[in-house]
Amino acid sequence: MTMNLNQIAEMDRNSVLHPFTQLKDFASGKMGDPTIVETGKGIRIQDAHGKELIDGFAGLYCVNVGYGRTEVAEAISRQAYRLAYYHSYAAHTTDELAILSDRLVKMAPGKMSKVFYGMSGSDANETQAKLVWYYSNLRGKPNKKKIISRERGYHGCSVVSGSMTGMSFYHDHMDLPRAGILHTGAPHHYWGGEAGETEQEFSKRRADELEALILREDPDTIGAFIAEPVLGTGGITPPPQGYWEEVQKVLGKYDILLIADEVITGFGRTGSMFGSQHYGIEPDLITVAKGLTSAYFPLSGAIVGEKVFMVLEDGADRVGAFSHGYTYSGHPIGAAAANAVLDIVEKEDLPGNARTVGSYFQEQLKAKFAQLPIVGEVRGVGLMGAIEFVADREKKTRFKPNLTVGARVSKAARERGLIARAMPHGDILGFAPPLVTTKAEVDEIVSIAEAAVRAVM
Ligand code: PLP
Repeated sequence: MTMNLNQIAEMDRNSVLHPFTQLKDFASGKMGDPTIVETGKGIRIQDAHGKELIDGFAGLYCVNVGYGRTEVAEAISRQAYRLAYYHSYAAHTTDELAILSDRLVKMAPGKMSKVFYGMSGSDANETQAKLVWYYSNLRGKPNKKKIISRERGYHGCSVVSGSMTGMSFYHDHMDLPRAGILHTGAPHHYWGGEAGETEQEFSKRRADELEALILREDPDTIGAFIAEPVLGTGGITPPPQGYWEEVQKVLGKYDILLIADEVITGFGRTGSMFGSQHYGIEPDLITVAKGLTSAYFPLSGAIVGEKVFMVLEDGADRVGAFSHGYTYSGHPIGAAAANAVLDIVEKEDLPGNARTVGSYFQEQLKAKFAQLPIVGEVRGVGLMGAIEFVADREKKTRFKPNLTVGARVSKAARERGLIARAMPHGDILGFAPPLVTTKAEVDEIVSIAEAAVRAVM
């Protein structure tokens, strides 16, 4: 059965419930026809009309090895022919899964012990919350269960991960439970710093606020702190100087686990293999997804540190089996995809590319945008960056209504052949191109973005 493009668009409009989409605008056609994405190669995708776009956001910060990598496609196909599926419950495994897990435990920062697999960053963070609760129960500390995350942190949109997400519009109308989840201030010096306050002083203040929250709630009720090494969806915001050092001092003082949500920063994006290594973070639990398979297959991991795992193992005689798992936990095709992707990440030294091409990218963003009258801040690390637009640079005032300029620039960029994302928190244009991006491609990205900004100014 062959369909023409109009029929496909029509079927889509009639039957797909699209994530993060204004439903009425889509249904009425105000958003135009759905973009039918057909092929991808390197850092570019092509739609069904043959229009090529540079993907300056690697899908959703995930296609790190770029599109069209035959090595990965072949690994997936080989595994599908050999064994499409078997579960990993009760001591079943596959060679690809065992190899991947050994690799992850060895390459991850800190003393890691095991990997629990899921299909998305959201479910992996859901698992992390359950691990924290389980760990506290097994330690005989049943009250030590609350989890602190940060305003503007993004941890997913399932029930618990959505509650941990610190942007209210993600849960306002969906009644996500707030009990047991607390939020502390975002580590963004540009907006949060007081007049004359240095980054270091601001970091100390944020750590003091975290400590005050812990004391107010009672440290014996706080199980974990979850954070992205670099705030991602909340605005691509690297931490201010000294932030992680100050925060970890507080967590250590009150016996609070640290979950590093490395869904974006894992596997090279900051210029180090993990964001934790980049910022001197020593996590107890690490969440990975996206870059793990470069999105060639849905796969996520909750990497469990030795400290937590030992308690889980010790408790097994008392509580029986670890009663958590998904049909697709440790899916062999996902594991094969991840091994093929990690081969590329290592062989092509993608963290190194994110470091060198990334620093060129950061220089170019600063050079072209930092002085423009509608730009408040240009920021980033490695191959992730953002331009934040403001109505008045001197007074640091936002545009009113908020969220219009970032979206307009993003649209103008797209018309010129570049996907750069209007971030949901503020007037921000975000970039996170594949980690295989070259300097010449950075020049293309920056020059299209410049034309787009000038078209809107
Ligand atoms: N954690 C972080 C830091 C993320 O950026 C995301 C998604 O963007 C998630 C968790 C959720 O991942 P998923 O969309 O795969 O559920």
